[in-house]
Amino acid sequence: MPIYEYQCQSCGHAMEAIQKMSDAPLVDCPACELPELQKQISAAGFRLKGGGWYETDFKSGAKKNLASSDAAPACASGGCGAACAAD
Ligand SMILES: [Zn+2]
Repeated sequence: MPIYEYQCQSCGHAMEAIQKMSDAPLVDCPACELPELQKQISAAGFRLKGGGWYETDFKSGAKKNLASSDAAPACASGGCGAACAAD
């Protein structure tokens, strides 16, 4: 069973709870008894995944930009006017 981390938004009390995936998240803080508990997302795996996505997007985006900027000026200058027309 997964262990969830909770932190109380009211008094800052932190705790861990072993719960089934299907269990409803805890809300009542055992320290101050307010319903202010918030489930913490375990940051490590989440951040790694986010970084990977970003890097992939950035690389493919840069490639696309390079390719189109190579092609555009050549045609705009008229240097390949004949070649483009022949195509
Ligand atoms: Zn509390």
